[in-house]
Amino acid sequence: MDYWDPFIERMPKSELIKLQEKKLRQLVAYVKDHSKIYRRKFKETKLDTDDIKTLDDLHKLPFTIKKDFRDNYPIGMLCVPDDQVIRYHASSGTTGKRTIVGYTRNDIHEWSTSLARGLTSLGVGRRDIIQNSYGYGLFTGGLGFHYGAEMVGATTLPTGAGMTERQLELMQDLGTTAFACTPSYFLHIAEVARNLGIDFSRDTKLKVGLFGAEPWSEDMRKRIEESTGINAYDVFGTSELNGPLFMECKYKNGIHIWADQYIVEIINPETSEPVSEGKKGELVVTTISKEAMPLIRYKIGDITYIDSEVCECGRTHPRLMRILGRADDMLIIRGINVFPGQIESVLMKNPELSENYQLVIDREHELDEMTIIVEITEKFSKVTKPRLLKIKQDIINDLRNVLNLSVEVKLEKPGSLPRSLGKAKRVIDNRKI
Ligand code: ADP
Ligand code: ZN
Repeated sequence: MDYWDPFIERMPKSELIKLQEKKLRQLVAYVKDHSKIYRRKFKETKLDTDDIKTLDDLHKLPFTIKKDFRDNYPIGMLCVPDDQVIRYHASSGTTGKRTIVGYTRNDIHEWSTSLARGLTSLGVGRRDIIQNSYGYGLFTGGLGFHYGAEMVGATTLPTGAGMTERQLELMQDLGTTAFACTPSYFLHIAEVARNLGIDFSRDTKLKVGLFGAEPWSEDMRKRIEESTGINAYDVFGTSELNGPLFMECKYKNGIHIWADQYIVEIINPETSEPVSEGKKGELVVTTISKEAMPLIRYKIGDITYIDSEVCECGRTHPRLMRILGRADDMLIIRGINVFPGQIESVLMKNPELSENYQLVIDREHELDEMTIIVEITEKFSKVTKPRLLKIKQDIINDLRNVLNLSVEVKLEKPGSLPRSLGKAKRVIDNRKI
């Protein structure tokens, strides 16, 4: 088993905690000195910074939220003078005004290190060619991944998103072994490959997929792996924490967070109280290595749970189990909580259905109505009408069992829904107008 930094990655838990506590104390002193915003937050919550000594004191610290970035747009959250900032990125703006993030040289180094550890845990290194189809530019995916890939000595192929046929051509011509992009864009690539008669196992050297930036289900992973023969791994991050940062190891048993760089907590999204280990809740992260824009108890908004047991790979750092989506992705349909991922899982169990689907929610006569539009796969597109009706009824029944909700299902011809190059738009909620 390969490690990028065996000393840190296998550090006994008790020592990791001591290291976190030391870095937490330094962080609190640092933001008190360097950030007007945190000085104000500490004052408002009457925090005596000397009271922050161990991880048990973490809950005394105030939260940071996306609104703090927006209220202090563009760079009020900076803790260093301008001349130490070597790069800016911006979030995708999925949930509102984009946030701007600044980086010092050291921040870029730590960020790349985080990815270098992840890539090494998958055996991706000098002999690999990583085709990076995350968008380059303001989005953190492109350049972020690029620097991580270069750090491990892999050859990077910076294609960025789009021009799918060219992606496939280069993949074959140069012998790409690892592909990084959103899972929905990879599905599109796989579809185009199928149409061109390209068989991943036969015609390419691709073996690893590094898929992130949006939620995807375990059943989607199975689909991707079975149809392309590659190993698909989950990658997680968010701009405010740097960008793509963390990934699963070969065991595919949760996303390794680096505890020497980040402290993670899970809280109840309604009460903001910590929940016990293994319980689902909202992810909160404190950055203990960042210089330009360090964050204290940042409420990311994603729903997940943590497993702190030592992983089979020997790494002692905690793992985030699959990200179910953002707290605000959770749909409330006629009073029932639904995560789009639950629906995706049901759909993916039906071989007749493709991976392209959309959820449309309307309110008719004061009642929420959800319609699931999903494409039939090419292979099943010619089936008879009674068979189609049967498929549709089976899905409706399965969804009723899983969600306790009756929904409308519309089966569409292959190719009728829009494809995405980056984050897919799966939910169209017409109630919010
Ligand atoms: P924005 O918040 O504007 O979309 P980012 O590009 O920084 O900006 O996206 C970060 C968000 O993307 C995360 O908070 C999370 O909701 C989502 N995300 C990233 N990676 C994953 C993943 N592997 N699984 C699920 N969601 C993810
Ligand atoms: Zn592991």
